[in-house]
Amino acid sequence: MKLTTISVVLLMLTSHNVLSQNTTIDTFKTTNGVIKIQPILHSSFVLTYNNTSIYVDPYGGENLYKNLKSPDIVLITDIHGDHLNQETLNAIDTSNALFIVPEAVANELPEKYNSKVEILKNGQGIHRLNFFIKAIPMYNLPETQDSKHPKGRGNGYLLTIDDKRIYISGDTGDIPEMRILQHIDIAFVCMNLPYTMTINQAADAVLEFKPNVVYPFHYRGKDGFSDVNEFKNLVNTKNKAIEVRLKNWYPKE
Ligand code: ZN
Repeated sequence: MKLTTISVVLLMLTSHNVLSQNTTIDTFKTTNGVIKIQPILHSSFVLTYNNTSIYVDPYGGENLYKNLKSPDIVLITDIHGDHLNQETLNAIDTSNALFIVPEAVANELPEKYNSKVEILKNGQGIHRLNFFIKAIPMYNLPETQDSKHPKGRGNGYLLTIDDKRIYISGDTGDIPEMRILQHIDIAFVCMNLPYTMTINQAADAVLEFKPNVVYPFHYRGKDGFSDVNEFKNLVNTKNKAIEVRLKNWYPKE
């Protein structure tokens, strides 16, 4: 081993409090290319289609995005710090990125991003680059005055890329707008308490809209992690055709 290599290894062993990047990448063939999915942290992931990349809810700091191609699109679902994370945005090269966000997020983004922001309200959609991006409602049930996620503020998203449809739930309950989705190839579904859904609610909703592949994500709650293995059991006991992909959404320190 060269001295430089040894130093790098030592540096890796001795650097504490730095999350290490999750380098697991899933690939999906489309009619005209390949979609790659790289989970980052909590509900952040990087989606790459051919040479175009979307960062979803970038969060977790500089190290998690190091050496990744800078984003062409940054998609943000809501105003909370695990979705709109200024520190992480500052650490990423967003000079060529278009931000697609709900209005509440646009209002909180610093002025320097103004010229790059496209606001989508629930139900609206736009074509940008190779993607059609539609905003889907996300909100807690039952709907209450003091809801952490009131209807209309945040956006879930439905991405259409070639022949593939990808659903990103945002922070939501098991709302009818999710349950009626059809022909979803890949779904990212949240499940944590007290912020979003129980695993039972999430499984029940997933069994209704039947995505081909579902990634449980955003599953770190107030009292620890939701049991995503049990979520997988709940789904596959009733429907073996839905592929539940368990990934490491919480890289170790
Ligand atoms: Zn959240």
